[in-house]
Amino acid sequence: MGSVQIVTTILAAAITAVAVWLAVRAVLKMVAVIRLGQPAPERFSDKVARARTMLVETAGHTRMLKWGVVGAAHWFVMVGFVVLSLLVLEAYFEVVTTDGGLPIIGHWTIFGLVTEIIGVLGLVGILVLMAIRLRNRPTRPGGRSRFTGSTMWQGYFVEWIVLLVLIFGFVIRGFKVATDHFEFPFWATPVSHAVGAVLPDWADGVSVAAAIKIIISMTWLIVISLNVTMGVAWHRFLAFPNIFFKREPAKPAGSGLGALRPMTSQGKPLDFEEADPEKDQFGVAHVEQFSWKGLLDFSTCTECGRCQSQCPAWNTGKPLSPKLLVLSLRDHAYAKAPYLLAGGGKDLTGEEKATQAQLAHLDVLALAEADKPLIGTAEEGGVIDPDVLWSCTTCGACVEQCPVDIEHVDHIVDMRRYQVLIESSFPSEAGVMLRNLENKGNPWGAPQNTREDWTKGLDFEVPRVGEVDDFEYLFWVGCAGAFEDRAKKTTRAVATLLNEAGVKFAILGEGETCSGDPARRIGNEFVFQMLAQQNVETLNEAFDGREKAKRKIVATCPHCFNTLGNEYGQLGGEFEVVHHTQLLAHLVATGKLTPVQPVDGGVTYHDPCYLGRHNRVFAAPREVLGDAIAGDLTEMPRNSERSFCCGAGGARMWMEEKIGKRINVDRVEEAMATGAKTVAVGCPFCSTMLSDGVNGKGAGEQVEVIDVATVLLRSVKPEQPQGGKETAPIGG
Ligand code: SF4
Ligand code: SF4
Repeated sequence: MGSVQIVTTILAAAITAVAVWLAVRAVLKMVAVIRLGQPAPERFSDKVARARTMLVETAGHTRMLKWGVVGAAHWFVMVGFVVLSLLVLEAYFEVVTTDGGLPIIGHWTIFGLVTEIIGVLGLVGILVLMAIRLRNRPTRPGGRSRFTGSTMWQGYFVEWIVLLVLIFGFVIRGFKVATDHFEFPFWATPVSHAVGAVLPDWADGVSVAAAIKIIISMTWLIVISLNVTMGVAWHRFLAFPNIFFKREPAKPAGSGLGALRPMTSQGKPLDFEEADPEKDQFGVAHVEQFSWKGLLDFSTCTECGRCQSQCPAWNTGKPLSPKLLVLSLRDHAYAKAPYLLAGGGKDLTGEEKATQAQLAHLDVLALAEADKPLIGTAEEGGVIDPDVLWSCTTCGACVEQCPVDIEHVDHIVDMRRYQVLIESSFPSEAGVMLRNLENKGNPWGAPQNTREDWTKGLDFEVPRVGEVDDFEYLFWVGCAGAFEDRAKKTTRAVATLLNEAGVKFAILGEGETCSGDPARRIGNEFVFQMLAQQNVETLNEAFDGREKAKRKIVATCPHCFNTLGNEYGQLGGEFEVVHHTQLLAHLVATGKLTPVQPVDGGVTYHDPCYLGRHNRVFAAPREVLGDAIAGDLTEMPRNSERSFCCGAGGARMWMEEKIGKRINVDRVEEAMATGAKTVAVGCPFCSTMLSDGVNGKGAGEQVEVIDVATVLLRSVKPEQPQGGKETAPIGG
């Protein structure tokens, strides 16, 4: 060992010792913070499916590859990180001796070839990612950036480190070539040989370059260890457990969508017949009341901003960005952690749990952070502004896009639950809706005895459950379908088509009440459970004696479809629920309905969030339209998984939209830009929002918003009076 090697070895050993010590300290700190969360025992179920999904999502980059070039570039960088870590390890042998290398595999030509290929692809990948970050930098003139609000220096830092480590990998090999210490042939390592051709024959070059590579790598480890909230770096490790512990691991995409998580206290679902707000946690009032998985979510965020770029609230000028919400919760959790780890925190009656002695050594910043209300305005020092919390439509675009499976919607609803149930603090206009749900069983407050009015004037009988036993489908009409004029047209169209196809169906009539979706999404779990339990009892009675496969329900409202199919199981109601577009597609495919006259004029389709993203029903409505219209469906730029919300979900239908541009107007402009004369929808709320948007633009005479069922009915029974655009009943 020469004098240069003595210096490089000491340098490498010293910086590595410091980096490893800091990294161990950082990991222990992160584990301690995450463990502050509430239990979530359900996250340990089905470990085989979890492991499989984690491997598919990480190795296959299934989420990221939806983003085309950036996904592919990120894949190469990820593989490069894993494989080229071996070369960092090899550098420890190279600082000691100029012809050092990894024992055994370090001499295999295949090792030289694979690391050469991955090194080159990693270099290309990181240069692409750097170019994309620069092109999308928030400070660039014009346009909105998904990186707005991200900590940009951290992204640049990580990318430069990766670039330099890759470059120095080739420099080390180049010095080995130049000094004739390289054992791999030219065909396997052409780039290394090319680098060697321009480097001098410097005997100590290998050890010096290896030391620089180790110093760069350890600088990265030191910096991220001193910044435990640096998700852009830590996600390399945290993404694996975060994906492993996601809910519903068997669902390949949108696993945090569909059903909401039940309200839990100490990890157990709450039953309101026994729940006590002085003993049980109602929603989330403090950051430590999220589950440990929530805190892991916040720690894992890479600040990539893909969620933000798709969020309808953010894109229309509201203060909500799902990324910034997650970052605020993360920063608050880590800043409050010293106080919590010292034994601090409030019990359910609001009393401090720690003694003065326990808190005496804490710095003033941690104590100040502990005093911040989780929900509060800037003047109140709140972590999350109420306008942020209430801007969410629960559309799920954020969850759908997040490459590390963060479950934003659950966290937002958990915070709403506390605000509604304990603080009674929510947009006042939604109070009418909640009162109507409690007193009348529907959000509009319509009299229950008018639920069947939509059947008036039909030229066939609509049977009620109890009047017939041999119905195949229970037709769940929904509150909009029963009381709202535009939705009533869809209800009539569906009933007419089912009758035409000879499907035996029956309705609950006055026995039906609201599914509870708006109550649950606004955070009123109490009202949701009240309505849902009533409906589950009614439905179980209606299907008495039938096995699950024969407990079939067809619903026209995607919110009811989602709640009945995905959430009633939490309360003992197991049913086979289909959306009407799925049933209609089946009836057309099996020849029970025959479109005879194509509807022309150009048709586009708006995917309802709770049908598409939340339940992956993308094909059925398109199949129905494909059979019923002239020519091809004209897709909007944002369609299917990336569809843009109408603005009504998450109980936003019953709240005023006071900030920014109206979401429905944004969507209608996109629909109208296709030139289509018909905007087909599959949801009564989308129908209302988009119709209002079209009318607001003064285009009510040129563009019609109608349900897919109405389009099909026009094609199947063109001779049947279809009614006016707004209120006249179909078939009436
Ligand atoms: S659910 Fe939709 S509105 Fe809510 S934060 Fe996510 S993207 Fe935004
Ligand atoms: S998509 Fe996921 S990882 Fe990216 S910023 Fe949003 S929450 Fe963070």
